[in-house]
Amino acid sequence: MSTATTAIPDQKKIGMVSLGCPKALVDSERILTRLRADGYAFAEDYAGADVVLVNTCGFLDSAKEESLAAIGEAIAENGRVIVTGCMGEEADAIRAAHPSVLAVTGAHQYEQVVEAVHTHAPPSQGPFIDLIPQPSDTDIKLTPRHYSYLKISEGCNHSCAFCIIPQLRGKLASRRIDAVLREAEKLVAAGTKELLVISQDTSAYGVDIRHESRTWHGREVRAHMTDMARELGQLRTADGTPPWVRLHYVYPYPHVDQVIPLMAEGLLTPYLDIPFQHASPKVLKLMKRPANEAKVLERLKSWREICPDIAIRSSFVVGFPGETEEDFRYLLDWLEEAQLDRVGAFRFEPVEGATANALPDPVPEEVKEERYARIMEVTERISAAKLAAKVGRTLPVIIDEVGEADEDGDIGATGRSQADAPEIDGAVYLRNVPSTLAPGDIVEATIEDADAHDLFGVIAQK
Ligand code: SF4
Repeated sequence: MSTATTAIPDQKKIGMVSLGCPKALVDSERILTRLRADGYAFAEDYAGADVVLVNTCGFLDSAKEESLAAIGEAIAENGRVIVTGCMGEEADAIRAAHPSVLAVTGAHQYEQVVEAVHTHAPPSQGPFIDLIPQPSDTDIKLTPRHYSYLKISEGCNHSCAFCIIPQLRGKLASRRIDAVLREAEKLVAAGTKELLVISQDTSAYGVDIRHESRTWHGREVRAHMTDMARELGQLRTADGTPPWVRLHYVYPYPHVDQVIPLMAEGLLTPYLDIPFQHASPKVLKLMKRPANEAKVLERLKSWREICPDIAIRSSFVVGFPGETEEDFRYLLDWLEEAQLDRVGAFRFEPVEGATANALPDPVPEEVKEERYARIMEVTERISAAKLAAKVGRTLPVIIDEVGEADEDGDIGATGRSQADAPEIDGAVYLRNVPSTLAPGDIVEATIEDADAHDLFGVIAQK
């Protein structure tokens, strides 16, 4: 049997030269924190950097000279230089002295610096390290304005056997709650209708900073998933309605129960993405999964009692080392009972550096394939039945794309129900929509038909 592992793309490395006052230093730290969250590593010398950031000072002439000299040194040593900071306001002077700088941005322009780094040293991507699904080559690369990812922390304190995130991204590092909420508020003010909360472990948000409280709009708010969810539920879009807020990568710790009533009240989108990965207690133990507790099925039942429309999405790994036919059947039986709305399945793949690679009893490839086909068959059947039960109902649908009129003048649109996160779940295809419909609009749609993944319908008559 092959023992080949999947290599993770090398992390891009950033060099940083920080000049000037303490404020500039804080800026440098912010930029580096943000870049770290985007998957970059830091180089200790010029030679190891894919790009060098020079955070300049332009207060005095001597400081300007020092900044220009530092830029010159970075160009001589590395060649790929992005300039930011106070002297960035004098882009012409910088370019006159050093025409080969890649980009110049001014002080406190974090977004622009990060964008310049992304352009000149695109972050390494891979299905094992990215939280955000990677678009295919034909997709638009940028998140459309009507939905935005809200990253609340980086890194992870667990050590799941198949995962190398903690080695790559370090321990859990949560953002301040007020910074998270400020970003969410700005995104919604700029037109975002749907916020997708992401992290490696959303339920653990704030553990590393002892759930530190901050004042937000006159209230004390803790860096805790439930406080954050409650506050996100207070946001309003321009038309006065709450934006859709989805929680991804939630582990079923007890406090997750507290966000279900917010879903029932319409303040949070009734959707939870819980990466269960398996159901067999033995395999979960081998996987070293967090929140691996026996009562999950009962909790799912009570969540559905409180919020009948809650959609649960999850992912599962089949063929993990040591998974027997009995373990796999346990998983299938569990799925029959759990009746999850959306399921992604993966065949176990050894990732370079993961501890699972050293486990005994690897599952042969052909057995993995066979189990994969069986789990897909079960989950597609459950999904088809769940979607069929929606036929005849009227559901809110957020529009992602509006098509061109066909030869009969009919315009179609693609959207998603509250049970569908972008990129990973299904779609709702609407026929005969008005030409005034635009991406980001939320309409009420009557569902006419369904298949195993998607729904089909029309805008409901008022
Ligand atoms: S919880 Fe496990 S799978 Fe998720 S990032 Fe942490 S170590 Fe990896």
